[in-house]
Amino acid sequence: MYVVKNLIVGCGLSGIVMANRIANELDQEVLIIDSKDHIGGTCFDYKDVNGITVHKYGPHIFRTNSERIWHLLSKYTDWYPFMHRVLGIIDGIEVPIPFNLNSLYKVFPPQKAKELEIKLIKEFGFNKKIPILELRKTEDRDLNFLAEYIYNKVFLGYTLKQWGFTPEQLDPSVTGSVPVYISKDDRYFQEKYQGIPSEGYTKMFEKMLDHPKIKVLLNTDYSKAKDTINYERLFYTGAIEEFFNYKFGKLPYRSLDLQFRTYDTNRFQNAAVVNYPENYDFTRITEYKYFLNEKSEKTVLSFEYPQDFEEGKNDRIYPILNKENQAIYDRYLEEAKKLPNVYFLGRLGAYRYYDMNRTIAGALELFDSIKK
Ligand SMILES: Cc1cc2nc3c(=O)[nH]c(=O)nc-3n(C[C@H](O)[C@H](O)[C@H](O)COP(=O)(O)OP(=O)(O)OC[C@H]3O[C@@H](n4cnc5c(N)ncnc54)[C@H](O)[C@@H]3O)c2cc1C
Repeated sequence: MYVVKNLIVGCGLSGIVMANRIANELDQEVLIIDSKDHIGGTCFDYKDVNGITVHKYGPHIFRTNSERIWHLLSKYTDWYPFMHRVLGIIDGIEVPIPFNLNSLYKVFPPQKAKELEIKLIKEFGFNKKIPILELRKTEDRDLNFLAEYIYNKVFLGYTLKQWGFTPEQLDPSVTGSVPVYISKDDRYFQEKYQGIPSEGYTKMFEKMLDHPKIKVLLNTDYSKAKDTINYERLFYTGAIEEFFNYKFGKLPYRSLDLQFRTYDTNRFQNAAVVNYPENYDFTRITEYKYFLNEKSEKTVLSFEYPQDFEEGKNDRIYPILNKENQAIYDRYLEEAKKLPNVYFLGRLGAYRYYDMNRTIAGALELFDSIKK
């Protein structure tokens, strides 16, 4: 029987941040267990045989506006100052994504692009991000033509592949997260701090966990181990519905079939991530050597095929947010509030798509509330 003050289920980003803070600030013991055979959860990366750092669960680019988060992580890593640029293949042309003023000039003749640029700025202002469903409401004939073009060429195919639904059938936060950007800024993110840990995420996590009060047990599922661990506090970063044995029903997710291929060429594509809204069954191709500017005569790519989540077959990746699923989640949340000294956190505890910044912020908010 293990006796420990703090048990953390899940050695992903949220569990690691929580363990790191409890050990360093409260000087308390932490046992952290994970059913997988590696630390890092969805952010796990590794160097492959060609010396290229591969993100096992898909491309991860860190960004934040929070000084606290940036400086906390920077104690454990240097950063390669990577600014993410995404291209999409539209009518066979490489176009910056999110669709912006530069994209306009890529797909339309200069005269037409100029007219549309002037109208866009006049109607919405410069440096503004407009969700596509809002742009489609415009009454101006030319802007309406543009909105339909972007909707059909950039959003519709990608969303159908990614979610199996049209943009209208999804929670507005989903399509709103990739807006039309009235700007010349080709970057995918605008946060102050952006980058990739210079030795990879996993190395950074190893350093965050390297503390005499932290013990990590891998290949250990909570459902099997729980009767052998005696704890005062439990931090649970797995799926909330699984913890409660699905008593209010399942929460649906989309998952990914990520197919990795190594090509015998120095470079395959012109950006780390290229989206394919119109062609093929995959949504995007990632070329991993971009992230740390790694040199090799070969290159490693992943092709992303979205699919439904099925227990035992694949991982829970993107929660399918709608009113019905939110209502199920709310019932679990009410149940969770009844348990003293059990805390749910992370993307699976919140049933939300959380980027790393939001995941860390959530763990720090919880830590601040319990340390008082
Ligand atoms: C394809 C993809 C791309 C992404 N790209 C970015 C990006 O570019 N930038 C960005 O900021 N964010 C990105 N994210 C988001 C980022 O991955 C998450 O914010 C982060 O991984 C969430 O960490 P977590 O600890 O909450 O969850 P997870 O990483 O899922 O960790 C949870 C851990 O709990 C373990 N676990 C679950 N149940 C049990 C159990 N019963 N017993 C034991 N262990 C259990 C799991 O094995 C897992 O290791 C991306 C996510 C995906 C899926």
